[in-house]
Parts: sequence; structure tokens; C-alpha cells
Amino acid sequence: MFLFGLVHISTGDLLRAEVSSGTEIGNKAKEFMNAGRLVPDEIVTAMVTARLSREDAVERGWLLDGYPRSFAQAQSLEKLKIRPDIYIVLDVPDEILINRCIGRRLDPVTRKIYHIKNFPPETEEIKARLVIRPDDTEEKVKSRLEIYKRNSEAISSTYLKIMTKIDGNRPKEEIFKEIESFLLQVQKDTEKMEKSGNTLLESKSHKIQASTSEDNWRGIPTRLNNIPHSREIREYFYKDVLEATQRAINDGRTRLKVENNIPELNPEMDVYRIGTLMELVRVLALSFADDGKQVKVCVQGSMGEGALAGMPLQLAGTRKILEYMDWGDYGALGTFIKIGSVGAKEVDEQDDMFIIVAPQNAVGNCIIDDLKAMTDAAGNRPVILINPRLKDLPGSSGIMQTMGRDKRLEYAGSFQNCYFFRLLYYAGTQYPIMGALRMSYPYRCELYKRIDEPSGKEKYVILSTFTERPTINEINDAFQGKPRNEAKNTSGIWGFLSGIF
Ligand code: AMP
Repeated sequence: MFLFGLVHISTGDLLRAEVSSGTEIGNKAKEFMNAGRLVPDEIVTAMVTARLSREDAVERGWLLDGYPRSFAQAQSLEKLKIRPDIYIVLDVPDEILINRCIGRRLDPVTRKIYHIKNFPPETEEIKARLVIRPDDTEEKVKSRLEIYKRNSEAISSTYLKIMTKIDGNRPKEEIFKEIESFLLQVQKDTEKMEKSGNTLLESKSHKIQASTSEDNWRGIPTRLNNIPHSREIREYFYKDVLEATQRAINDGRTRLKVENNIPELNPEMDVYRIGTLMELVRVLALSFADDGKQVKVCVQGSMGEGALAGMPLQLAGTRKILEYMDWGDYGALGTFIKIGSVGAKEVDEQDDMFIIVAPQNAVGNCIIDDLKAMTDAAGNRPVILINPRLKDLPGSSGIMQTMGRDKRLEYAGSFQNCYFFRLLYYAGTQYPIMGALRMSYPYRCELYKRIDEPSGKEKYVILSTFTERPTINEINDAFQGKPRNEAKNTSGIWGFLSGIF
């Protein structure tokens, strides 16, 4: 960080300085710190905001270390429109963190930090004067870790869009390099924005940004029960899906699925709108075409024979709509974007990727054989399924399916979610919205609770995050504020989940 001239502001260091000078703040904070607990928000926030407004921080930008450590602290920064450009999470397994703290020693003369095993002092003289932080005992470190985990999930919700996870369990030179390259990127982007006269930047320091209306939706847009959705809500989701899909493709993933079940995209609800699905597909296809890719957008054709021919209701007319849609002034349709159906013969040599619109089985007709033939032909080119419904259904009368049931299920499961969104309701109801689940590649699945505010507004707060989509019991426990891994009880109260778990 030294390279970038940022002012390093560590709340732990600031607090320890207050304690050792015996100030009023120090005396109040000491007891909490020694117990491995968080110092009350008002004390720390006042201290940090005073430090951030000093000239050096305003001029040179800053690196906040150890703050915010609670949802309330993150919100205090948001209220003051103090925004970082990047939020770095250093991911390290618990046992290693505990060992790092227990072995940590501080040289009171030079303020240099050592570790008895990993980074021992250079001389016996230094070794003799090293001190241990009072909160670095195993018991207190464990308690700090517990508090950290509880709070970090809530804080991440504020910074999801700028969050970068870095594997912190590697040699420090490697980690430094990775952080450095992220910061260089941020610097480049900031310079670019500045050149283009972007008004997002409010101060010379580039570190304090004004909030935009979209920033209020860092978590989940509100008013999702207002149908039809506003243009802003639809655009939020298109962008959210696009960013997740781009990240997955850039990471070399090739079998992807997007499951976005906002009410307008959820065929189980009577407010389902085909136009919203088509707009989402258009945003994805145009963006990849802008990157120079040849994109094939595919809709399954009618299936079955003779009088039994037909297609799922949800897709009726889709292909025609796609052809009539506005594909931009540059005539992308027919050049970079082609429209096709589902099957091996749709895969042309020049196609770079395939977007398949809501592929689904209908009673008597199973799309999976065609889909499998198509993905086999596509090889390592990306295939993205948008809102697929591939629950296993028997094939049409008399026509044997080439794949057996197990194989069909295995195939359907081979697509990785790059995006997932679903509202939560009590079983059997569609009102009120209780919460939401959101997963955006490569981040964890987030569970949100919807809260009605006294002002009549609503908001979503993050309750917990999960590496996999949570089970009904896990959702129940999180809503009831129970810690993880408790003995499981009832089967759950959530509706609309049976189809997705
Ligand atoms: P650290 O050096 O960052 O591990 O911080 C040491 C101790 O200072 C923590 O265990 C807390 O007691 C206190 N502390 C540091 N930063 C904060 C914060 N942002 N909010 C509350 N307490 C804090």
C-alpha cells in the first residue's frame, strides 16, 4: 500500500494508542479490547471519521484496516458517503488465523510485528523485549473470530459489488502481488473515469464517492411485489446476471445456468412476462457480441409428432419475438447474433457461444437428449441456460429416450449456477415477501431478510451466506437467529422452495 501512498488507518492501532496514552477513549475501550470484544460503535466511528477527514487521508486516499467491523459501522460510512473503491477479504482458515495470533509478538521499540515461528526476531536482544497483545490468547482469539464471522457477512452486504476475495493462506509476497494488481486496476479505472469527466468522483482524493441511486440497491432492490417491475428493477437484474455470467465465462466455465426467479421471470406466478425474459437474453447476447463473440440464441422448437406436436406454453411465440426485437443500431442480429433452436445441428463452426432460452421438458417431450447432443457438439464453447426447467419427465409415447433417467439427471446437474435469485414466501402464499436468496458467481449464496421500516419503506438485510444453496432447515435457523450446525428440527415453513432444493 506504501506504493500507492495510501494512509494506513488501523482502528486497532488507533485504539491501542489511546489505551497506552490513558485517554478517556482509551480507558473506555480497554476493557472491551482485553476481553476480545468489539469496542462500542460510537467510540470507534467517531475516531475513524475524525482520522479520515484529516488532510493526508483526503489528499492521498486511505486503507482502512479493521473497520468497519459491524453492519452499523458500515452504514455510518455509507451515510457519510465515504466509499472505498475496493473491499478486500483475506480468506484464511481458522486454525491458521488462531496460530498466527497466538504466536504474534510486538516489538515495543520499533513497533515491528513478529511471529515466534513464522517470522522470528533477528536478535536475542529484540527477542527479550517482545510483548504479547493481551487479546492474543487462544480463548480471546477464538471469541474475536466468532464475532468477526457473525459481522463480516453483514458488512459484505454493503460492499458486495466491490468485494474481492483473496486467498490469504499463501506466502505474503504472493498475496501482496495480487493485492497490488487489483489496486493498479482500480487506479487505471479511476484515471479513465476522470478523463471521461465522470462525475461520480466528488473529491480530489478519488476515495470519497457520491452515492448514485443504484447504490441504494447494493443488496436487493425493494418493491419487488409491485408488478410490473419498474425499468430500474429490471435493469438492476439484467446487470446483476450479466456481471455474474461474464465473471464465470472469464474464468473459463463452459456449462452455466442462470436461474432468475423474480416474479416477472417466474412462470409459476401469474405475473410472468415473456418480454422480461427476452430483454434479459438480449442484454446478455449484445454484451458478448460487443466483445466480438458470435452468439447463438437458441429456443427449442416444437416437439412431438403430428397432432401431438407442440411446445411448452411458456415458450410459445418466443422465437418470433426474438426476431422482431430491436437488436441495436449496428445490426448485430444476423452478424454477431444468430437465432436458432436446440440440437446438435444448430452448432456451427463460427459460433463462439450459445444462450439457450428457458429449455424445458414438457409432459411427453424431453428436451434433454437434444440439449446433450448440442452441448457435445459445442465442445468447450460456453453454453448458458437461462431459466431452465429440466426436472425429469418421461419421454413422449412410444419414442424411447437414448439416455436413461440417472444419466438425464446427471446431465441436467452438470450445469453450474452462475446466477441464482429467488424470493422467499411462507408456504402456500405469495405475499408478503419474507426474504430472498441470491448467488452471483463466484461469490457465496446470500440469504436476505426483508424488513418493513416504520417509514413505510422496506429493506433487505443479509442474514447469512452459504457455500451451497441453503436447505430449508438452514434458512429456518438463520431466520430464527440460531447458530449454524444446530440439531435440525421441523421441515420448514418456506414456500416455493420445493422445486429448487
Ligand atoms: P485489531 O488490532 O484490528 O485486531 O483490533 C484489536 C481490538 O480493537 C479488537 O479486538 C476490538 O476490541 C478493537 N477494535 C478494533 N477495531 C474495531 C472496530 N472497528 N470496532 C470495534 N472494535 C474494534
